[in-house]
Amino acid sequence: MPCPVCGNDPADGRLCHECTADWLRRLEWLRRIGMPVLREVAYRRVRFREHGHAPAAAPPSPLDETAAQTYADVERDLRAMAGTIGAGTPLGWDRTGRRVSTRDAQHVLPELARRIDDLASTPDAADLYQATVADCERVDMLTHRREERRLVGVCPECLQTTDGDGGPVRTPILAEPGRRWAVCPECGAFLDLREVRARYLESAGGLHITRTRADAARWLSEQTGIHVTGKTLDNWRYAGRLHPRHVEGRYWEWDVRELLSCVR
Ligand SMILES: [Zn+2]
Ligand SMILES: [Zn+2]
Repeated sequence: MPCPVCGNDPADGRLCHECTADWLRRLEWLRRIGMPVLREVAYRRVRFREHGHAPAAAPPSPLDETAAQTYADVERDLRAMAGTIGAGTPLGWDRTGRRVSTRDAQHVLPELARRIDDLASTPDAADLYQATVADCERVDMLTHRREERRLVGVCPECLQTTDGDGGPVRTPILAEPGRRWAVCPECGAFLDLREVRARYLESAGGLHITRTRADAARWLSEQTGIHVTGKTLDNWRYAGRLHPRHVEGRYWEWDVRELLSCVR
């Protein structure tokens, strides 16, 4: 059975190695950076969201309610996640009857990281993982400057719907370089960023790029966040995975879909 998240790699119905490693990395990020910084933002000891704006006339409230609410929501998800594998004792039940940890996020997170293999093997693993990705997105939005994000493409789910004028809804998807997944801020869809990027390039007619070998490698590294060299491209070419067409001198025409599929 393929991995229920990415569909790649035979994985016996549990999350594949790559998705499990990504999950662990996200939990570690939440523990070391995301949640502590979010708590600071909630109590307005650091500010990321209001830079560039004129100071408000009224003194700011001592609590950033959006950040505080997000902290509480994410902590609730982490407690429920711990409950499904019996981690983060003592355990109790929430209002909907789910088993949950009664400990706080900073206690639950290392427990979840330690038991990542149990998490990856539960029947709900894909849903739980996607909830973690969505939570990381929410925390990240409140703890990062938006400028660091770049346009990856438009949401393919929103594109299927129409707005008031009858045109397709084009929701820009922004992400930091190297990200694999994102959640659409408009419809909440869970998105594979490589897919979003590939579709966007295709719709823009940019199916081919003309670059030198080194520039094509640099382009691919930028698009995917995976380090690729000209030598790597050569290896893929000899393996029959890439078929660049020679244009002139050092310039070759590369098929964008082929390039992207090589790093999958
Ligand atoms: Zn996977
Ligand atoms: Zn969307």
